[in-house]
Amino acid sequence: MHLYSTNNPSSRVSFKEAVFNSMPQDNGLYMPVSIPKLDEQFLNNLDLYTLPEIAFKVAKNLIGDEIPDHDLTNIINDAINFLAPVVRLEDNVYVLELFHGPSLAFKDFGARFMSRVMAYFLKKGEKQLDVLVATSGDTGGAVALGFLGVPNTRVTILYPKGKVSEVQELQLTTNGKNIRALEVDGTFDDCQALVKQAFTDNELNKKFRLTSANSINIARLIPQTFYYFNAYAQLLKMDINKVVFSVPSGNFGNIGAGLLAWKMGLPVHHFIAATNVNDTVPEFLKTGNYKPKPSVATLSNAMDVGNPSNWVRIADLFKEDAKQLNELITGYSYNDDETLNAIKTIHEETNYIACPHTAIGWKALKDWQNKNTEANAAGIFLSTAHPCKFPDVYTENLVNKIELPDQIQKLVKKDKHAISLGKGFEGFKEYLLTNK
Ligand SMILES: *Cc1c(COP(=O)(O)O)cnc(C)c1O
Repeated sequence: MHLYSTNNPSSRVSFKEAVFNSMPQDNGLYMPVSIPKLDEQFLNNLDLYTLPEIAFKVAKNLIGDEIPDHDLTNIINDAINFLAPVVRLEDNVYVLELFHGPSLAFKDFGARFMSRVMAYFLKKGEKQLDVLVATSGDTGGAVALGFLGVPNTRVTILYPKGKVSEVQELQLTTNGKNIRALEVDGTFDDCQALVKQAFTDNELNKKFRLTSANSINIARLIPQTFYYFNAYAQLLKMDINKVVFSVPSGNFGNIGAGLLAWKMGLPVHHFIAATNVNDTVPEFLKTGNYKPKPSVATLSNAMDVGNPSNWVRIADLFKEDAKQLNELITGYSYNDDETLNAIKTIHEETNYIACPHTAIGWKALKDWQNKNTEANAAGIFLSTAHPCKFPDVYTENLVNKIELPDQIQKLVKKDKHAISLGKGFEGFKEYLLTNK
């Protein structure tokens, strides 16, 4: 597999290089030089394949020979060891549940695949890989659980004290083994600033092999294409082949993966980009002006992104035909009141409890379908996380109805281990140097 930087289309790196660098020096993003279409035979018979089988075909199509078949199969079987079921809510409305992995959010797909790809590329005797990750909640849990027990790797998570939910904190602090949690007396931005400074610190870079588990890593994007194919396969089994995906979006990695799947031949009728009031992309799709802005805090906080870093990739996918982008994607954005209303309505109408991000995906799908009745397309909205991760947004009645998955029931019994730190860089550096 060869990749180029969106800022320098003639540059070339290998998959391994792109995985360890995360980002090119020129601040672009890595894109595959070639995105081959999958063969018709496979696409028409997707319903005959399991999720791991689909994942192998799709990954192989992009990665080529850089990971031999046998190893790629092992990576996939180990990483994607949970299901992504499509559940019918009503006529033409389906939910793709992406929260059945260990951290109960779709980020498990990316984090688990990336961690195993990194471990695969680390040669015997190579220096341990030190992953530094700042999190506002979901990313940290997925990365921690993704790397847990992966040989020759260690993860240090920084999270803002008192600003993540109880379930999220359990996921960050009860792992032990090769995972360390640092509770920072500050905001998520403070955590991110500490990690960024560490990457530019000479002494730390000499002592450690530092890497970020950033969401823009190409090894997080690839596995997110798997579940689009697999969701389509599940509808094919019901004799449905006209499908619209509605994707709750923040950094636009998830929908970016959907568009990559489309580029590989998945016959998706339409995509819906659903955001909260951080509406940079819906505004762009409406007006043609791309104007990033500072992020605003909302109830769907994993989507509080005013300058979505993956948008560059999507723009790059459509650089030859910008009109096609507008025909394929519609944007919708909703405020917190509308989000709460959506949570309430889904529950009243279908008895389903959606997380706040997921509720935005549902609302956008319904609004699109009401406007495009003639399309008569089946809609799939992506459920990006389990509702138990965001208990504060629900009424007491609903909170009591949320079932705690096994993953969480086990965590509750474990001890919390986190080191408290201030937000100054010296304290963080001192911690890293003295805890080798
Ligand atoms: C990360 C996240 C999102 C946003 O996904 P992007 O790929 O950044 O667009 C949506 N919902 C949840 C629950 C998330 O954790």
